[in-house]
Amino acid sequence: MTTIAFLGLGHMGGPMAANLVKAGHTVRGFDPVPAACEHAASEGVAIQVSAREAVTGADVIITMLPNGKLLLDLYTEILSGAPASTLLIDCSTVDVADAREAESRAASSGHRMVDAPVSGGVVGATAATLTFMVGGDDANFAAAEPILAAMGKKIVHCGGPGSGQAAKICNNMILGISMIAVSEAFVLAEALGLSSQALYDVASTASGSCWALNTNCPVPGPVPTSPANRDYEPGFAVALMAKDLGLAANALREHGVAGELGLRAAERYANLRDTGHAGKDFSDVINEIRTQSGEGAN
Ligand code: NAD
Repeated sequence: MTTIAFLGLGHMGGPMAANLVKAGHTVRGFDPVPAACEHAASEGVAIQVSAREAVTGADVIITMLPNGKLLLDLYTEILSGAPASTLLIDCSTVDVADAREAESRAASSGHRMVDAPVSGGVVGATAATLTFMVGGDDANFAAAEPILAAMGKKIVHCGGPGSGQAAKICNNMILGISMIAVSEAFVLAEALGLSSQALYDVASTASGSCWALNTNCPVPGPVPTSPANRDYEPGFAVALMAKDLGLAANALREHGVAGELGLRAAERYANLRDTGHAGKDFSDVINEIRTQSGEGAN
């Protein structure tokens, strides 16, 4: 079995590291937050005093961090201390540009790297049912795949370095925009005197059908398991959607793509996050649309 350094033992990294232990790997972990370390230790992760210490003797280094700046800073700290040809797997969600910079730094110091962001949330991380979107060359993907298989159920090779992050932000841009479209339609239906159930019954089996409507329906009632039925408890939190659409907006601007809806959606979720809704499910955007519609929607 493999010796794996796991850096970043938070909401996602903690259970992912625990699943690697369950699969029989030796896992050396580090996180600056003591509570995260204590919890991971109780799952069999061997906690080290620093990231540099954790990577000593590791065959594989997995990172699960809040953002790209922390990733690049951490790589500066650890790359020189990691054994030659170490396989680096970054599972954080970061800018495509940061992922490509990280891969280039790893390659220049004689290491191999893939970006492998995830979807599936804490539930998927705990149950080892995450989806991994992987960017990197064929050999590096082949090396990473068996490690990722201990933490997820679907692993997609999306292309060269940065392609995993590209797939993640493009998918979440579709999701963020489609939730706004669905929410605007429900608020318009209310103004037109059309019941939510009737709109759902038609649109969920017609051309308006999509995940935001059929599974994560933003009004209570039609889909009993959707977050709208439990006061918008996530689900997929506004803070995470705002982060991912911020990354999508950066990429749209950097590449000169005329993504009007993506840019507007990024603003909407950032505003929702900054006005006290960060911990709500992203379908809570419907309530902002209702509030902004005010009397005019009647
Ligand atoms: P989190 O904040 O709970 O965990 C991140 C951990 O990284 C923290 O414990 C932090 O202390 C640690 N950390 C920071 N600097 C470090 C360093 N230098 N060395 C080691 N550890 C360090 O965040 P999370 O919810 O676990 O998310 C992690 C990543 O996964 C993010 O990029 C997020 O966008 C992405 N993601 C999260 C979810 C989700 O549902 N939470 C879903 C998909 C993707």
